[in-house]
Amino acid sequence: MNSIRTSNSPESGVQCPEENPETGVPSPQSFDGPGRSPESKSNTIKKISDGLLSLLFPSACASCGRYIKDFKYHYVCVPCYESIKRLEGALCKTCMKPLDAGYLTECGDCERGERYFTNIAAGGVYSGALKELIHLIKFYERKKIAKLLAEFVIENIMDCAIKWADVIVPVPLSKKVLAGRGYNQTALVAKILADKFNIPYVEAVKKVRDTEPQNKLERKDRLKNLKGVFEEDSSVAGKKVLVVDDVYTTGATMNEMAKTLKMAGAIEVRGIVVARSV
Ligand SMILES: [Zn+2]
Ligand SMILES: [Zn+2]
Repeated sequence: MNSIRTSNSPESGVQCPEENPETGVPSPQSFDGPGRSPESKSNTIKKISDGLLSLLFPSACASCGRYIKDFKYHYVCVPCYESIKRLEGALCKTCMKPLDAGYLTECGDCERGERYFTNIAAGGVYSGALKELIHLIKFYERKKIAKLLAEFVIENIMDCAIKWADVIVPVPLSKKVLAGRGYNQTALVAKILADKFNIPYVEAVKKVRDTEPQNKLERKDRLKNLKGVFEEDSSVAGKKVLVVDDVYTTGATMNEMAKTLKMAGAIEVRGIVVARSV
C-alpha cells in the first residue's frame, strides 16, 4: 500500500493555476428529503405540491410550480434556473465553505481535519431549483437532467478545474442501491463531463456495502459510517484524479473517496460537485 498524504498545503486552492489552467429515498411526501432545515408547514405543503405538480404535469416548474412558458431547461422555469445561487464571497480554498471572516482562507473543518483531496469546485448552492433538479434525477428517474446538471457545472466552474484531470471517477452507489435505482445519477453527470473534455472516465471505486444515508447522521458518525466502504482498483495509480459527486455536505464522502484513491496510488485528488450545502 502506498503511503498517503493529506492535502492541506497552502498552495492548494479552488482557483486553477495559470499554467494548468446516500442513498435514502425520501417519500414523495418529503420532497426536500431528510435533513432539511425546518420550514413552516405552509411552505412545506407548497413545496410538496410544486414537486408533485411537476411530476404529474411536466409543464409545471419543479421549483416554483408555475407553468413553464419557455422550455429552455425543461424541468424548471427560466427564472428559477437563473436564480440558482452560486457560491460567492469569501470561501474556504479547500472546500468552498462560505467563511464568516474575510481574512481567513480556510474553514475550521479543513484546517483541523485530514483532507485527502486538494480542493473541490462546486457548481452552485444546494437549494432552490438546483436541489429540486437533483432530487428529480436521484429519486424520480429523470435521467435526462444529467445533461442539464453537467452543463450547469461547466457554466459555473473554470474549465481548467476539469482539464486538470488525467481521469474522472464518479462516487459509486452500492450494488443494492444501483439495482433499485437502475442508474447512478452522479455517474451520468461524470460521464458527460468526461466526454465533453475528452478525459478518460473510470469507475475505479466500488461501494462494497450499504451505508446509512449521510444526511441522517451526526457529523461525528459520518466518517465512521463510511469507513472501509469504498474499494479501489489500480487503474488510477500515478494519475491526477477528479472525483465527481452530486452533493457535498460535510466532505466525508469526498474525503473517503480521496483516501481510497490515494491508497490506490493516485498522485492527487480533487473534486467536482454539482451542488454544495451551505
Ligand atoms: Zn420556476
Ligand atoms: Zn473548508
